[in-house]
Amino acid sequence: MSGEAPFTIEQFYRFVSEKKLMGAKCNECGKILLPPRPICPKCLSRNLSWVQLKNRGKLLTYTIIHVAPERFQSMAPYALGIIELEEGVRLLGVIQGVRHEDLRVGMSLEVDFDTNVPASPAWPPWPRYFFKLRRE
Ligand SMILES: [Zn+2]
Repeated sequence: MSGEAPFTIEQFYRFVSEKKLMGAKCNECGKILLPPRPICPKCLSRNLSWVQLKNRGKLLTYTIIHVAPERFQSMAPYALGIIELEEGVRLLGVIQGVRHEDLRVGMSLEVDFDTNVPASPAWPPWPRYFFKLRRE
């Protein structure tokens, strides 16, 4: 598809840096690919479009990270979770602002964007999004 940004994880992070949660949608079968890929794994079509996803989902599973990679160690212990977005796709991320003892599978979370991360010359940077409690 000419005119579309490439369907790569790097492009996904570029959208995140613009505070947009984007997935690739297959124009043939409707499947949403997250992380994006250049070919639909369901029907093998390359006819894809970027679509903006709603920033809302439910917590499917989580784990508390005590021993983190060195550059994240200052955050430890932190909660790493997988949420299922309303579109049915899953996203991995850090959960912020929720006490670990209050975490529950099935709880409503929303995706927010971290604007305090300095621009990094290395690409891709740490994903600048996180999950937080959804305020109804
Ligand atoms: Zn498809």
